[in-house]
Amino acid sequence: MPEARDAFLEASGGRGKGVNMNDYMKGSHPRELPRPNRTFEEGRVCADESCQTRLSVYNRSAMCWQHTPVKFPFVRGQRKRKAA
Ligand SMILES: [Zn+2]
Repeated sequence: MPEARDAFLEASGGRGKGVNMNDYMKGSHPRELPRPNRTFEEGRVCADESCQTRLSVYNRSAMCWQHTPVKFPFVRGQRKRKAA
């Protein structure tokens, strides 16, 4: 059954998706470069008065990741409330 086999290979990452994923993870790992290109003001602190988290010069936001009002796309689906 060639069709079933192809489907299995794709589903199991037979095309090397796993490898690409790892490369991406490595490449996106935060790392300080010797000569950064686009950086923002250095020594900034979170805009939240009660928060003194230092912002990375690569962080475009005025707040730390905890206070940045951004909803990440990978948030799990909303829970459906069931009547208890
Ligand atoms: Zn903060």
